[in-house]
Amino acid sequence: MTDTHAHYDDPAFDADRNDAITSALKVSDIIINAGISDIRSESTVALAEKYDRIYAAVGIHPQHSGDLSVIERLCAHEKVIAVGETGLDYRNADNAEKQRQRELFTAQIEIAKKYNLPLIIHCVDAWGDMLSILCGSHARGVLHGFTGSAETALTLVRQGFCIGFGGRITYPGAKRANAALRAIPTDRILTETDAPYAPPAPYFGRRCEGYMMRDTVSYISRSLDCDESIFEENAVKLFFEKEGSF
Ligand SMILES: [Zn+2]
Repeated sequence: MTDTHAHYDDPAFDADRNDAITSALKVSDIIINAGISDIRSESTVALAEKYDRIYAAVGIHPQHSGDLSVIERLCAHEKVIAVGETGLDYRNADNAEKQRQRELFTAQIEIAKKYNLPLIIHCVDAWGDMLSILCGSHARGVLHGFTGSAETALTLVRQGFCIGFGGRITYPGAKRANAALRAIPTDRILTETDAPYAPPAPYFGRRCEGYMMRDTVSYISRSLDCDESIFEENAVKLFFEKEGSF
């Protein structure tokens, strides 16, 4: 399995980081750790330097801020394989904050294109602006932890993007995301934990950890009646083939 989105540098792992990562690497062949700020992108790269099978995404999350020149410098690192997580999150955002997020996001799209890296994109309650920014951007990447509609997912797939699903897809109320999962081609689906956030349904309320990937991936492959190896192939195509087919 490939965990395309995790945060093992999060303070939730301060007490047992090494054990949590060692256990996660028994389940996932590759883990992509995503930065959320300039400082946390540095700590993400440090993790990738320490563990062979951890790779880094560097970026500034829409609800954070930071120095983009740090992100750009880190893009040249050999273990950095994506820009993210970046995107839009309009929960509790006023117009000035929405504008700030759009500028921060579009600047990171330009960095990704400059370094020919895919984007790892977070989007909550901002689908209209997300589509207008991404459509025609000639960027590539994944909409991680997808919660949008089937129609939105299909529009993004047509633009060349992948769609990532984590533990939230297993929640009984996740009807919209499940419709999106079933609407898109299997060769555009990625799997993730988003550890320490969003554990799959059986572990609700607990810290999300690497072994929980099994529940999420088997839920998705059962829903689609497909072999789970396709999700690994998709991740390799997006993150490890420089001139990827997406
Ligand atoms: Zn995340």
